[in-house]
Amino acid sequence: MGQIPRETIEQILDSTDIVELIGSYLQLTRAGSNHKALCPFHIEKSPSFNVNPHTQRYKCFGCQVSGDAIEFVKEYENLPFNDAVRKLADQAGIQIVEDVFDAKEEARRKSRAKIQRLQIEAAKFFNMLLFKKDFAQPARDYLKARGLGMDVSRSWQFGYAPENQSIFFQWAEAEGFPVPLLVEGGLAAWRDEYNPNRGAYARFRHRLMFPVNNDFGDTIAFSGRVLDKDQKGGKYVNSPETPLFDKSKTFYGFDKTKRPILREKKAIVMEGQLDLIAAYESGIENVTAAMGTAFTAQHAQLLKRHTDEAILCFDSDTAGVAAATKAFRVLAPTGMLVRIALVPPGEDPDSLIRKHGPASLEDILNEAPEFFDFQIDRRGSLLTTGPLRDRLNFAKELAFDIALVDDKMVQDSLINRISVRLKVGEEDIRRQVSNAKRDQIRAEKSKIRRENMV
Ligand SMILES: [Zn+2]
Repeated sequence: MGQIPRETIEQILDSTDIVELIGSYLQLTRAGSNHKALCPFHIEKSPSFNVNPHTQRYKCFGCQVSGDAIEFVKEYENLPFNDAVRKLADQAGIQIVEDVFDAKEEARRKSRAKIQRLQIEAAKFFNMLLFKKDFAQPARDYLKARGLGMDVSRSWQFGYAPENQSIFFQWAEAEGFPVPLLVEGGLAAWRDEYNPNRGAYARFRHRLMFPVNNDFGDTIAFSGRVLDKDQKGGKYVNSPETPLFDKSKTFYGFDKTKRPILREKKAIVMEGQLDLIAAYESGIENVTAAMGTAFTAQHAQLLKRHTDEAILCFDSDTAGVAAATKAFRVLAPTGMLVRIALVPPGEDPDSLIRKHGPASLEDILNEAPEFFDFQIDRRGSLLTTGPLRDRLNFAKELAFDIALVDDKMVQDSLINRISVRLKVGEEDIRRQVSNAKRDQIRAEKSKIRRENMV
């Protein structure tokens, strides 16, 4: 990727009004020739965040942050510098011509732009069908049964993909989206990938459609949920990987929830997107969910860029506990503090909120124990009454997870706490932790070796 020329950056700053820009994010009030707001970068009760229309800069007299329009977007949206520049360039209608022209990069950019437009238009189309067509009644019934009103459907841009795929293909043709583009964008698939002449079929049929957005709120992919119990295919079908979409680093709803996560300084990780929507709409906005897949190391990195604390809000069945443990093992190496909040048996966050209100979920979240306390509590009966051998075995299990924690001091305090609670010698646990660490490093090395051989 080429460098964005200095003149372009200046041109973008010249055509952006910082008062208007920041006013689109924050409640600004006039104070003399300046504008003031509550600072978004620290918590305060009276506004010390100033925006100066003459210098076109902001400064907070509370926490001392300052900068220009690009700096603001970069910090507030938590974007890399070039992305912040691009976002402002788009708003100002300025085309960025990079210093080094790269034909390949240019072709890739053009193809991405086409796929991008396809996703945005398809989201509008599915949304229109949901609202306007008789045949979308099952989708509307489903939403109603889940207590999701039309205002929620509008704000999350839910849609309906019709059973009859010719409706979809006719729309695409009328909009000028050729079939190969539909395939490239993941909305259709070839019947025979070695022989496109055999035609394509629509990937999403008779499904409730959830658009998946990038950080700017533009749709980049879809997740489609079944509406009939005996319907073919998985409960959720997601778009395949495309030049825009990689599910191993995408959080559903992150364009809406990332600012609340920054503000609350913690992220509540949900298992499903409907749980996430229910929580968000009930006022618990700092939520996130992977897309029907395991939590990956890339997810952990992305989350860590926004907060240091994660609360894993999962089902209390065996599968939920196993998923929480897996997610902990991915998050711990980033240095994040991980808490576990299990909803009561037979419930999920969505049903809990519907039956008992958001306060019931908030209570569970507020009392969520740290991962290790959770593990010890769960096996409580072993602690004092169980045979020593069982306690030692359990300590060994925990040692594996302690070894993943990327902070020596935290490790030491964990070893101490577990030694007291399990009545097992500190030295025994310490030795098991260093054994586990050694095994983990060895496993990591051989994994890298295997990957290099491929
Ligand atoms: Zn401040």
